[in-house]
Amino acid sequence: MISLPPAFIERMTRTLGDESEAFFEALNSASPASIRLNPAKNVYPLPFSELIDRQVAWCPEACYLKERPVYTLDPYLHGGAYYVQEASSMFLQTAFRQIAENTPLRVLDLCAAPGGKSTLLAANLPAGSLLISNEVIKSRASILKENIIKWGYDNIVVTNSDPSRFSGMKGAFDIILVDAPCSGEGMFRKDEKAIEEWSENNLRLCEERQKRIISDIWDALSPEGYLVYSTCTYNPGENEDILSWILATFDAESIAIRHEYPEITNTRTPARGYHFYPHKSAGEGLFMGVIRKKDGQPFTLKKEKRTSQNPPPRLPADILPLLPDITNYTPYLAGTTLGIMPSPHAEFIQYLESKAGVIYKGCEIGESVKGSTRPAHSLALFHKLQQQHATRQEVDLATALQYLRKEDIRFEAPRGAWILITYKGIALGWVKEAGNRLNNYYPKEWRVRK
Ligand code: SAM
Repeated sequence: MISLPPAFIERMTRTLGDESEAFFEALNSASPASIRLNPAKNVYPLPFSELIDRQVAWCPEACYLKERPVYTLDPYLHGGAYYVQEASSMFLQTAFRQIAENTPLRVLDLCAAPGGKSTLLAANLPAGSLLISNEVIKSRASILKENIIKWGYDNIVVTNSDPSRFSGMKGAFDIILVDAPCSGEGMFRKDEKAIEEWSENNLRLCEERQKRIISDIWDALSPEGYLVYSTCTYNPGENEDILSWILATFDAESIAIRHEYPEITNTRTPARGYHFYPHKSAGEGLFMGVIRKKDGQPFTLKKEKRTSQNPPPRLPADILPLLPDITNYTPYLAGTTLGIMPSPHAEFIQYLESKAGVIYKGCEIGESVKGSTRPAHSLALFHKLQQQHATRQEVDLATALQYLRKEDIRFEAPRGAWILITYKGIALGWVKEAGNRLNNYYPKEWRVRK
């Protein structure tokens, strides 16, 4: 039995009435396990095919599993074939598909680590769009970057900035997701720390912080742009009240998310919000609402006056065949790191770099080392990597895990070649033939420790 704060029990009993018994019972039951497939990676056979229970109704790319596997020991996870995400959060897909017009968009995911909602957004962006995935806490931003690299898209920029850094970018984003830091009541059954940290005082602090975050980024939202607001808590002060506060403070309107799922509880306040309770839907507690901004100025990208115009770097001949058609990409060099970014967004990314702390952009493809190019790990995980032009070695489960633990692996390989390691066709990273051995280039900080 989890031990819940009495004030929380009292409020939830009042809010849910007859349903509260079922709610508290659900908090004492196991969390359902669910994964969401990466539609850009050709995953076959499906991960954990023997454990698949059923599809998540509001996200057909996702499924519940009958039990929670040890994900870390599945090479597919490290190749970005799927993301482990609790199912309620995936409702973002329903909301996003309703508000994202089929034109190129700029989307900001403001509180993005570890990357669950960013990877979902990336998979749903209209063609030609750009996602800025931001996290304020540095250590969490590194995890976000890792998960974004594994997901393997080329139209994402990862930033590590306080929300206030975006405030000067007036009208720059068509959609902003604020998946706000909150009191985490919806995580009580998964995370004991959320219960320990819960207090009435902390609820107030969360509410104030949420208002501050929204005030910071409001100007960065374009006129007619959408703010998607979500939390993983039940506290109305952080949910319905924040939506009402937005409507009272800014020129904005509440937008309905159309759905046909009786397991979702629509709020009764004028600001439309959607609650997920664990006794009604299989997943954790979640709240979501969509707001449309009515005022503001459209974004204009002021051309930077640059004194010296460096020509873009040339891409090395040995890497070029591994890339898709590069006419739509702008190559860049950052220190010794060579990368590509989508050309239609290159100027905007340069502008973003003058405002926020960019820690990853587009796809890093290699490192210039002593006149030759060492292929980047992100190139191996890039979903548009032309695998047929790489020297490739398909490995079994045991070898894949050895590789992911950064241990030595062995097989015959051409002299001096860079070899792409794949597991059931999903790329995991590189090794290099070095005479009598193979050097394992799996990133040391990502290695599997189990
Ligand atoms: N969207 C993420 C996902 O789907 O994987 C989960 C985000 S979590 C609910 C909230 C995030 O907000 C955390 O990563 C936390 O570090 C970050 N955060 C904490 N304080 C913040 C602040 N003052 N401004 C912006 N983000 C903050």
